[in-house]
Amino acid sequence: MKRILLEILLVLGLAGAGYFGWTQKQVAHSASQQLQEATEQAESGQSKTQETEEALGKAQEEIKALQPKAQQFDAVKGAFTGGQVLDDLEKLYAKQKGLSSERQLGLGMVRMLTKGADEESVKALNKTLEMLDWNNQRNIICATQNALAAAGQDVKVLAECNTPPPLKSAPTGPAKAADAHAADKAHGDKDAHKPHWAYDGEMGPEHWGKEFPTCAKGKTQAPLNIKGPFTKSQFQLVADYKMGELSLLNNGHTIQVMGTAGSKLRIDSKPYELVQWHFHRPSEEQFDGKPFAMNIHFVHKNDAGDIVVLGVMVKEGNENPGIRTLWNHAPQKEGPAVTPEGVKFNPANLLPREREFFSYQGSLTTPPCTEPIRFFILKTPINMSREQIDQFPFKLNARPVQPLNGRVIESN
Ligand SMILES: [Zn+2]
Repeated sequence: MKRILLEILLVLGLAGAGYFGWTQKQVAHSASQQLQEATEQAESGQSKTQETEEALGKAQEEIKALQPKAQQFDAVKGAFTGGQVLDDLEKLYAKQKGLSSERQLGLGMVRMLTKGADEESVKALNKTLEMLDWNNQRNIICATQNALAAAGQDVKVLAECNTPPPLKSAPTGPAKAADAHAADKAHGDKDAHKPHWAYDGEMGPEHWGKEFPTCAKGKTQAPLNIKGPFTKSQFQLVADYKMGELSLLNNGHTIQVMGTAGSKLRIDSKPYELVQWHFHRPSEEQFDGKPFAMNIHFVHKNDAGDIVVLGVMVKEGNENPGIRTLWNHAPQKEGPAVTPEGVKFNPANLLPREREFFSYQGSLTTPPCTEPIRFFILKTPINMSREQIDQFPFKLNARPVQPLNGRVIESN
């Protein structure tokens, strides 16, 4: 019961912060509606256990009744100023392994409502932005950006965030909300959607810095051309990936697969949850100036929000049975995630047997190019057939290699 209450407060917190952003910025769109939609989407997408889904379902019913109250920011703020909500939420989340981006966002919002926009709150919110998919979680990003802007932080609110989201009828529960959203995505906001960045042309990598300053100004940007001299790496790496339901999407930039529940990368015994993994063609990292046909990036995050990427190179060779399964279900066109019924997959099938690696401090290789992110690139590539490489729906989705800026690459 306490948990449900906290979920409600969390959503109220989101709505409150959004409403605050709305009134402060005089942006002509419904922030609370945007936030409500974002939360539904986030929760329906991320709920992993039945227990969570039930709790959220109940919470959402309650939230509907409480929604008008959420729009009175003073009332909401009152609930937070005592600090009890933040304390409770932090305690609750401290016990959970692998905090979802959405919960991290919620925590950041609540912290901001309680303590004002201190450095920690802004850090937490920015960390969340790093992990969110720019196309599929646009609403969450817009909500966060509006809230940060309202708090007087120097963030650029994307022009797209000032467009009101399409109106739709109230959802009846998490699963339905997800369906409704998927349906909307399919028909609704295609025309309104303008890409923020691309791999060529006017929005290509050399122009990313205009909208995403870190891409141009960052000093530890990725990918890198990997070449010696190397220093000896002391990291111990164990990939502990689990078989689970296959869920994947085409986000307009790559094919992205959700991490299966319980999948972890352990670095010196410290666990990082597998959040998602995706493909680049050709490979983003290069070995001695040479790209591979493709690469896979397995993206992990720990409870503190630190991101670690495990890279696997792909060379042309024998057909890869794991890839055959993926390509059978990967959408050719941009759209919402698909979860083919009865299809299980273990991402460990796409790791080489040998685990020697290169390691360096890098960044996201897509906007907003956030730093720092620790990379481990396995030295041994896996195979995919020529045909499988050609079946990947993106011909070019690799950022060029970035300046080393004095970094020394490690090797084990
Ligand atoms: Zn990547």
